[in-house]
Amino acid sequence: MRAILRGRFVVDSLRGVNSDTGVVVDDGIIIDVGKFSDVSTNAGKEDVREFDGIICPALINAHTHLELSSFRNGQFRHSDFVDWVIKLVNARLSMLNVDVVPDCRKAKKEAEELGTGFFVNVGNDLALNRSLGDNQLFAFEQIGINESSSGKIFARSSEAVSAENRVRTALAVHAPYSVSPSLMKDIKSYNNLRGSVTSIHLSETSDELEFVMSGTGRMTDLLNQRVGKWQFNPAGMSPVEYVDSLGLLDNRTLCVHCVFTDERDMDIISRRGSAVAVCVRSNRELSGHVPPVGKFLQKGIRVVIGTDSRASSPDLDMFSEIAAYYSEFHSVVTPEQVFRSATYDAAQFLGVANAFGSISAGATAALVYVPFDGRGEEALEYLAAGAQGKTTKVNL
Ligand SMILES: [Zn+2]
Repeated sequence: MRAILRGRFVVDSLRGVNSDTGVVVDDGIIIDVGKFSDVSTNAGKEDVREFDGIICPALINAHTHLELSSFRNGQFRHSDFVDWVIKLVNARLSMLNVDVVPDCRKAKKEAEELGTGFFVNVGNDLALNRSLGDNQLFAFEQIGINESSSGKIFARSSEAVSAENRVRTALAVHAPYSVSPSLMKDIKSYNNLRGSVTSIHLSETSDELEFVMSGTGRMTDLLNQRVGKWQFNPAGMSPVEYVDSLGLLDNRTLCVHCVFTDERDMDIISRRGSAVAVCVRSNRELSGHVPPVGKFLQKGIRVVIGTDSRASSPDLDMFSEIAAYYSEFHSVVTPEQVFRSATYDAAQFLGVANAFGSISAGATAALVYVPFDGRGEEALEYLAAGAQGKTTKVNL
């Protein structure tokens, strides 16, 4: 079905804000975009759909865990991050016989209806998550701190992903405090061979910093409780330096959180060309701190934005997430940067820019409508700060 979507403003990071623009869509694919008068020459009147506001590309959620959609932020009253993880893990174990698929589908659909087009979805259940659709990179997360079991974990997980044979399924490293050096290296090499992005939770809490540096602190309580007999050689360096020393960081590595990073860490991330996924609402909830986003941008680090899961964030709505992000970092980021982080930059880093993140001929017509009666100069600010709750997916 061919249609021309006529927006008062059409906004993306490649062309900026354009007034009275038409987006020609055929069978779910954008085939043309330009001045309405130009693209509508050959169209009949019945093909035109008017939108009294902004049309923009659907946003990209660069970090979430859809499989945790049965939980609610605030459900696990916790004293610190480790306490939260323990409570979350116990809750998951108590639900092993519960079918959580309907909750996952519902949460994803709600996010899509509000304007998310693509997800980096990290999880431990390959079959469940793959059943949630193709507009995601599924990052099959591995955990295993002991070298003795690393080989087995890697063999099993890589075999499962290879059998899937989908470009948008990759292995993922949970975190430096829960994955052994050899398992991290195996996962990274496997993903690189397949051209996949490797996701890793990195420098999320000060406890992680202490553990990687000296092998002490609250993380040992987590490992004692979850693993029992574990072994870790203190690295004597920061988590970023540690994973870099193992060859984990390059321009296909998605470092999630990076809240506790210093100048040296940021210089390493910048030099390696890795991206950082910022989940500001989750960080406030779980560590009480936020990452140094202004410095990331100053150092040329590619910043992308994610909601994290329902277990640490109020919702999976990316427009709410970017509003929280912009409100937190408004003194160091522009609305253009916020929007670009959540659309084009994420798409490009993830290797899906041909389909998502911009309004270009050939891309998937994953588009959002935002009612807006302001001026063009205010459109990006509105998208970054004021659009949450008012956005809807453009149904074709
Ligand atoms: Zn996460």
